[in-house]
Amino acid sequence: MLTDLQIAANVSGRKIASVNPATGELLREFECATEPEVQATVERARVAQPAWAELGIRRRLDLVSKFQRLLHQKKSELAQLVTREAGKPYVEALLTEVLVVLDAARFLIENAYRMLRDDPVPHGNLAMKTKSGHLVREPYGVIGIISPWNYPFSIAATDSLAALVAGNAVVVKPSEFTSLTAMELASLLHEAGIPEDVFQVIVGDGATGAALTNAAIDKLVFTGSVSTGKRIAQAAAARLLPVVLELGGKDPMLVLDDANVEIAASGAVWGAFVNAGQACLSVERCYVHRSLYEPFLEACVRKTGELRVGNGTDPETDIGPLIRERQLRNVESQVEDARAQGARVLAGGKRLPELGANFYAPTVLADATPGMRIMREETFGPVLPVTPFESDEDAVRLANDSEYGLAASVWTSDRTRGEALARRVQAGTVMVNDVVSCFGISEAPHGGVKASGIGRSHGRLGLEEMVRIKYLDADRLPGVEKVWWYGYGKNFTRQMEGLLDLQFARGLGRRLRGAVRAAGALKGKHRRSEIK
Ligand code: NAD
Repeated sequence: MLTDLQIAANVSGRKIASVNPATGELLREFECATEPEVQATVERARVAQPAWAELGIRRRLDLVSKFQRLLHQKKSELAQLVTREAGKPYVEALLTEVLVVLDAARFLIENAYRMLRDDPVPHGNLAMKTKSGHLVREPYGVIGIISPWNYPFSIAATDSLAALVAGNAVVVKPSEFTSLTAMELASLLHEAGIPEDVFQVIVGDGATGAALTNAAIDKLVFTGSVSTGKRIAQAAAARLLPVVLELGGKDPMLVLDDANVEIAASGAVWGAFVNAGQACLSVERCYVHRSLYEPFLEACVRKTGELRVGNGTDPETDIGPLIRERQLRNVESQVEDARAQGARVLAGGKRLPELGANFYAPTVLADATPGMRIMREETFGPVLPVTPFESDEDAVRLANDSEYGLAASVWTSDRTRGEALARRVQAGTVMVNDVVSCFGISEAPHGGVKASGIGRSHGRLGLEEMVRIKYLDADRLPGVEKVWWYGYGKNFTRQMEGLLDLQFARGLGRRLRGAVRAAGALKGKHRRSEIK
């Protein structure tokens, strides 16, 4: 039976639009790619991929270097486009979109050749010493990438670069809100020399994404919400399509009793409000030791009061708009729910209609309690809800009391204590004394546990997601029959018992006796008929 999404994907004429969230200006309208168009795109990628893989990693990395140079030359235009389409301040676009991708390219240029090389697999089992094993990394073929709007360039680009370097062809389905940025990525990659059919973008909505999931791709890398991730996992399970799922988060920040209040408050305010809180790694829940609670709140309110909300094109702007009005309504309803249940709104807590339809004031909430929606559901807006805790035990329990597990942070002046506590927090990444910036460390794997996802992007582990592992084994003595082949019998059984004793018996004597018995096997096999 076709789902509603599949039916929709067959229908042509569905439209999506890129709209500037700060001004409401329509940037461009697109027709959604239909299911047949998606299938044809994937087919072109499949045809183009073998030659791309044949090219070899050094040549592919040369093209990545060229892409890196072009991106650096066009950094301002690219960042401006991201600001116009996604709303974030221009300087954030430079740092979290352009710089992250330039550095991801640097990481691949420096490391991918070594990381994708065959690895020898030494054998410990005595019986297998005559064999030479290798891990061989092969491209999957065609990798589908479905990406969100909140980091429209860096997410699609970092995943695509890793997939391409590993020898795959790539088809990207960007968010329906940020198609222009994805098209710019395509034009930079093509200008660098990556063949058009090796990297393609299909624009469209959720139904187009579903069509890509169901098309003849070999792996899917999805970044987006938990609810979409679950639908994709179900569709993928039906055909055992491998997937990486980078999903939402409800990242806790733990401020221990020895933390520097001013520093931690600055970190909290930036971590909660960067990209208007629309970051998967943003501070979504803040737990502060009771002894620092009031001074911490005071510092957060003071620092929040200094922030300027506005159009991201203005260099003085700290916080831009939310992506769409629907997003605003969700933030608003979580804040109202918290307020109704006794949370104190110390800053913000309201829309800013004088700036435009999508602006929400950066909000600090005190006395949030674990049952409130604001402490359980992903907010994805500029809200910092704060709760006191009594002990480190208490802090760990509160941090782990969530269905999510993307990232977390621990704030303390004692790094050893911070790292010890970090090991007890259930998350894909825990930072001590910083937040969010782990996304900019190209060597660091990114991904979640629990509902925050499956698999990893970035770094060595992200690159490994883009290849199939083949175990290749070659026998060094091809002219010799193997002792474990047929020819079973009493003699052989005794020899093999000896082999087990040689390797695993306790005591030198038993091992030596085992060796003597096993040595018989080296003389070669006796056919049953030969055994008298
Ligand atoms: P979303 O799930 O609504 O959409 C993500 C992408 O999936 C879009 O391209 C969308 O068109 C597509 N899509 C929607 N329905 C689909 C379907 N049935 N089949 C296939 N594709 C479908 O998410 P969003 O609102 O664009 O992004 C915000 C979410 O992404 C937040 O939850 C955020 O935490 C998460 N996110 C996670 C990470 C991470 O690395 N873990 C990074 C950024 C954002």
